[in-house]
Amino acid sequence: MNDEAEVIIVGGGMVGATLACLLGHEGLEVALVEETPPATASNDPDDAPPDLRVSSVNLASAELFQRAGAWEGMTRRRVCPFRGVLARDMSGAETRFDARETGHDWFGWFIENQVILAGLHEAVAELQSVRWVTPARPDAIATDSGGATLTLNDGSRLRGRLIIGADGAGSTVRQLAGIDTTGTDYGLRALVTNVVTELPQQDVTWQRFTPTGPQAFLPLPGHRASLVWYNDPDTVALLESLDDETLAGEIVDAFPEDLGGITAILGRASFPIRRQHAASYTASRLALVGDAAHAIHPLVGQGLNLGLQGVETLAGALLDARARGRDPGTAAVLAEYEHRHRPRALAMMVATDSFHRLFTREPGPLTRLASGVLRLADKVPVGRRQVMRHAMGLPLWNDGRG
Ligand SMILES: Cc1cc2nc3c(=O)[nH]c(=O)nc-3n(C[C@H](O)[C@H](O)[C@H](O)COP(=O)(O)OP(=O)(O)OC[C@H]3O[C@@H](n4cnc5c(N)ncnc54)[C@H](O)[C@@H]3O)c2cc1C
Repeated sequence: MNDEAEVIIVGGGMVGATLACLLGHEGLEVALVEETPPATASNDPDDAPPDLRVSSVNLASAELFQRAGAWEGMTRRRVCPFRGVLARDMSGAETRFDARETGHDWFGWFIENQVILAGLHEAVAELQSVRWVTPARPDAIATDSGGATLTLNDGSRLRGRLIIGADGAGSTVRQLAGIDTTGTDYGLRALVTNVVTELPQQDVTWQRFTPTGPQAFLPLPGHRASLVWYNDPDTVALLESLDDETLAGEIVDAFPEDLGGITAILGRASFPIRRQHAASYTASRLALVGDAAHAIHPLVGQGLNLGLQGVETLAGALLDARARGRDPGTAAVLAEYEHRHRPRALAMMVATDSFHRLFTREPGPLTRLASGVLRLADKVPVGRRQVMRHAMGLPLWNDGRG
C-alpha cells in the first residue's frame, strides 16, 4: 500500500530539514526520510560536548533559518558571531575584512552542526504538515506522469508529486535516478580539532595559505575554537595519531603566532577534500539539493550557504507553482530551479578551485601573484566590500535591503 505526501525529501540534514520547514510552513505535506534519527543538542551549552563539525552561517542563511522557524533554537544553544575575516599567506601579505564596512555588525556566525540540526529538527517537530520517516533509506524510485513512488529499505512505499534528494555528497537518490557526477579529489585531508585557547579572539576568523594547504581559525563561544589544518593524507594521519599534548605543540609550532597557546584539545577528526558536481540537478519528478547536487572545497566555508541558496530557490519555485494551482513536480517548475541555481553553484566551484590552485603551491611566480592579489585587495575598499557582500550572501550592490 502507498503512503501519500505531496513532497518526499530524502535526507533530514541541514539542507533537507530547512527545505522541509519552509515547505511545511506553507502547508505542503512533506515526508522526511532519514536514516539517522533526529538530532538532539542540549539546551544547556555546558551539558553537550562540542561538535567537531562547525559551519560558518552567513547573513542570508541566518535569515532563511529564521523563516524556517529554527534560528531561535540555535541562538538559544550556542552560536559565535564574528565580524572580521583575515586572509594571509606565508610572505605576510594579507587582506582584512570587517563587516562594519558594509554597514552590518556581523559577517556571520560559527555554529556547531549539531546545534544547527537541533534547531531545525525542533522546528520540524512543531509542523503538523511534516512527518519523519526514520530510520529509513530509499531502495528504488519509480516515476510516472502523475507522480513518483519511493520504495524504502523495509519494502514500504511512499507516493508523492516529487522526490527531493538532500542526502549529501554520496546521495542514494542521485544514484537511483542515474544522474552522473564530475569531480576532483584534491589529494588533501582537513584535520579538524576543537581546542581551548589562551587568548580570547572570538570576533575574528583567520586563514593562512601555506604550500601544503590552508590553516584556519574558527572562533566558538568562550575560549573555544575550531582549527582546520589542511595537509596531505599521510601527514594528517600522523598528526591525528598524536597524543593531545604533542598535537597541541605541533599546532602551536605550525600555526601563525596569532593563535597563541592551546590549553586543551577537546576533540579531533579528519575529512577528505573533494569537489563534486551532479550532471543535472533534476530528473523526471526529482530534484537534488545541497551536497547531493554540489560539494565544494570548504576553504571559503560556503558549502552549506550555497546549499541553502538552492533550498530558497527550489522552495520558491515549488510554492509559486502551488499558489498558481499548478503541479509542483512538473519539468517546467524543476527547470526553473536548475536554471537559476546551477550558474551560482558553478561560479562558486570555479572560485574555490582557483583559490585552491593559486594559493596551495610551492613559492614561485604564481604565489607572488597571489600575494599581490591579497595586498591589492587590502587597499581597494570598493572591491573588498563586494567580496564581503558576496560572502555574506547579500546582493552585490546595496539595494536598500541592507
Ligand atoms: C571539513 C569541512 C568543513 C566545512 N565547513 C563549512 C563551513 O564552514 N560553512 C559551510 O557553509 N559549509 C561547510 N562545509 C560544507 C557543509 O558541511 C556541507 O555543504 C553541508 O553539510 C551539506 O549539507 P547537506 O544537508 O546537503 O548534506 P549532509 O550534511 O551530508 O546531510 C545529508 C543527510 O542525509 C542523510 N542521508 C544520507 N544518505 C541517506 C540515505 N541513503 N537515506 C536516508 N538518509 C540519508 C544523512 O544522515 C544526513 O542527515 C564543510 C565541509 C567539510 C567537509
